[in-house]
Amino acid sequence: MSASILTLAIAFFWRTFLSSFYHSCRYLVMPILLTAVLLGLIEHFQNQWLNWQQTIEQMPYWLLGCATIIALQFNRSRLSYIGVLLLSFYALSQNSGFDPKENELILISGGLIIAVFSFIKDRGLISVHSLLRLGVILGCFLTAYLWILVLSHFSQQMLSLHQNYLPFLSASHFSRLPLYPIGLILLIKLSLQSSLLQTSLGVTFLLWVLHFSAPNWLPLAVQLNVIALFFLATVIIDSYFLAYRDELTGLPSRRALFNLSLSLGRKYSVAMVDIDHFKKFNDTYGHDVGDQVLKLVAAKLAQVTGGGKAFRYGGEEFTIVFPRKEVKRVFPHLDDVRESVEEYEIVLREEKRKGKEDKQASKKRTKKAPAKQRTVSVTVSIGCAQHQADQSFEQCMKEADKALYKAKERGRNQVCS
Ligand code: GH3
Ligand code: MG
Ligand code: MG
Repeated sequence: MSASILTLAIAFFWRTFLSSFYHSCRYLVMPILLTAVLLGLIEHFQNQWLNWQQTIEQMPYWLLGCATIIALQFNRSRLSYIGVLLLSFYALSQNSGFDPKENELILISGGLIIAVFSFIKDRGLISVHSLLRLGVILGCFLTAYLWILVLSHFSQQMLSLHQNYLPFLSASHFSRLPLYPIGLILLIKLSLQSSLLQTSLGVTFLLWVLHFSAPNWLPLAVQLNVIALFFLATVIIDSYFLAYRDELTGLPSRRALFNLSLSLGRKYSVAMVDIDHFKKFNDTYGHDVGDQVLKLVAAKLAQVTGGGKAFRYGGEEFTIVFPRKEVKRVFPHLDDVRESVEEYEIVLREEKRKGKEDKQASKKRTKKAPAKQRTVSVTVSIGCAQHQADQSFEQCMKEADKALYKAKERGRNQVCS
């Protein structure tokens, strides 16, 4: 009993924290390390860059301007808004500069805007939502203004509060207190919802705070150039994934498959995978359950060994490509993956039922007895073929398709070549 509780606790811990930590390493730790290395290099070579000073100071207008326009083009309006705000800040600080109070106001409202933007969705620029976003920006300025007003109004009380409870914070930094919870919220959001856009917002926040905390460390222009490069990378990499990843399963799409086919050598094998009786499965359990199963089968196929790479070809069909492998060598790997799908007991998520009847039905069910967790399983048939001399990739796939039909005819749930 206690062992199973311990196992459950470990599984919960792994699922909730460690696996999300591992996942966020790609989006959080790596980008932050990269930024640190980039900034370190820039700082190291700063002296030699003095000759380039004028160019570097002009660059944010071009880079950040481009990033803002491209982000808008690719429906990343949050990055565009922040790009415009950063450009305005840069232009103003180049021309007239700010007094210390204005500096504090801009720092805190900027941090707030970045944090709030990490929670809202990207919408088109010319829509009713733009007014809401402008309202959010104004609201952030107002909140920061009120905070600074309260601080100066209750300066005595705040001073004693500061001395008693937060002595480690320097007096000049006391007004920056809200940045700590804001930074923490951004960090939690980033580790829970890893995406390049969230990473870009996190990096922008870090550099923003850094600029105000250590103004002499790196010129603002350099930091803005780094932010602009992050924005551009986010938009470009995100669009790549949009074009080459299948949305439902997360596997590379058919387009990615044909892209890979251009770089394959002479020796490779191709396997076509098809779920057995999937139409009947959909008819029995519904399309939503079918989608869940497709995702889980795709996850199993992605784990294929022997150097295979899985793609969603379309519908309930998948393709696995084994570069530099003969068909007899890929056979055991394909049989392993077929077996792992067969043995996989898929636990169905309870769907939120819609409609009055369904609601009543589910009420009745929960009153009488708790709903049992349903498990289902499916099998796959696989056909594979090896690339022959003077054969195109499409012809090789056709051969694999023929082998797949053979597997279906022989009774399904098997691998044929
Ligand atoms: P067989 O064993 O001969 O392959 O039988 P089958 O029923 O799997 O074959 P068929 O190709 O006739 O049916 C494929 C079905 O897959 C049709 C459709 O209902 C289902 N399907 C295709 N794409 C999707 C999808 O994205 N989601 C879901 N849920 N079902 C899909
Ligand atoms: Mg099919
Ligand atoms: Mg099928």
